[in-house]
Amino acid sequence: MANLVSLGPDGAFVTPERPVIPIIIGDGIGPELWRAARPVLDAAVAKSGHAPIDWLETPAGRKALEETGEYLPASTLETLKEHRISLKGPLATPVGGGLRSLNVAIRKELDLYACIRPVRWFPGGPSPVRRPEKVDMVIFRENTEDVYAGLEWPAGSPEAEELSRFAAERLGAAIRPHSALGLKPMSEFGSKRLIRMALKWALDRKAPNLTLVHKGNIMKFTEGAFRAWGYELAREEFGALTVPESEAQDGDGRLVIKDRIADNMFLQTLLRPDEYSVLALPNLNGDYLSDALAAQIGGLGLAPGANVGDGLAVFEATHGTAPKYVGQDKVNPGSLILSGAMMLEFMGWTEAAEKVRAAVARTIAAGLVTYDLARQMTGVTPLTTSAFGRAAAENLT
Ligand code: NAP
Repeated sequence: MANLVSLGPDGAFVTPERPVIPIIIGDGIGPELWRAARPVLDAAVAKSGHAPIDWLETPAGRKALEETGEYLPASTLETLKEHRISLKGPLATPVGGGLRSLNVAIRKELDLYACIRPVRWFPGGPSPVRRPEKVDMVIFRENTEDVYAGLEWPAGSPEAEELSRFAAERLGAAIRPHSALGLKPMSEFGSKRLIRMALKWALDRKAPNLTLVHKGNIMKFTEGAFRAWGYELAREEFGALTVPESEAQDGDGRLVIKDRIADNMFLQTLLRPDEYSVLALPNLNGDYLSDALAAQIGGLGLAPGANVGDGLAVFEATHGTAPKYVGQDKVNPGSLILSGAMMLEFMGWTEAAEKVRAAVARTIAAGLVTYDLARQMTGVTPLTTSAFGRAAAENLT
């Protein structure tokens, strides 16, 4: 169909003149965030000379349950697949429901194997560190494997007992009685496709370096393999364009591949963040580091993200439904607005994406911020969600 995003021969998204983009408005604070974010995105698109986006409201979460009897209707997944690119608000995890998490279900069903989170400080905004202008990184977190694969069993369960027996009898590994057990699968395929995406991103944007973050000193065959596969992939598929840090010379011009042990990486991001640009991490390390880095730039209110697979991407803020603030017109719509900017960039509408980012930057620089940033600053009166949205829209050039 003429208004669907498609894929070019190189696998990049091709956006039609007037695209239809699904929007999952989401639960909790979702509707108030969308009311604030939409005018900013629409105005940036118009100011960049594009025809408007036709937003296609797509049900998921509580609203879907009320309308269809299901939290995540099969038709919603079909819509996300068919349209390739979509924007999503936060979804509450159903308590006691059959689904572990709607967000995880969407990522699994669409095989969105990379969680991409850019972390950048906006001048004028708060930060707990002294030199936040040095923080400008993009995190690529593996989204499907590792201890998050859901392969775990309670202490005393037949599965845990059986696994313990197998470990003792077949592997000579003694496990303390009545232990809960989990598996940590990390495959060459899963690691390499994540690292490949990060490498391409870094090369496309002429980033100076890419760092493989792992805990391979202790978990030698899982995390250690992530590191080894990363170097192998860079050498075999991008050999002319990359160089390991140990061989890099000043002014080399090639993408420098580094690796850091995860605990050291937390230290590095506080002490020397400007030495790192693109990070590739397994699932658990990536989860921890994403929030730690978001804290350095003011918190979850300015933390955009995307879950990306091959030819499919769902853009969403890092935060959840913030139940305690629902209906108060209080929370920061910045994460959703900036996730929208990421989406525009993936669509190839880079001018519109830049306009959105610049408008957010101008708004923050003028001291116009919501409660979450205001409470870390002095003498600043917080704006409401809707007022921040209006200010950002007015700051579009
Ligand atoms: P949360 O919704 O992210 O909220 C935790 C805290 O983060 C809030 O109380 C608030 O901090 C801050 N926060 C979140 N969004 C903010 C925003 N837009 N502006 C400013 N501050 C913001 O996490 P949760 O309370 O643990 O989870 C609530 C529900 O959301 C759960 O059902 C969870 O499963 C779901 N969830 C969904 C997603 C997703 O859809 N991708 C992600 C995470 C969680 P203060 O209280 O300090 O002001």
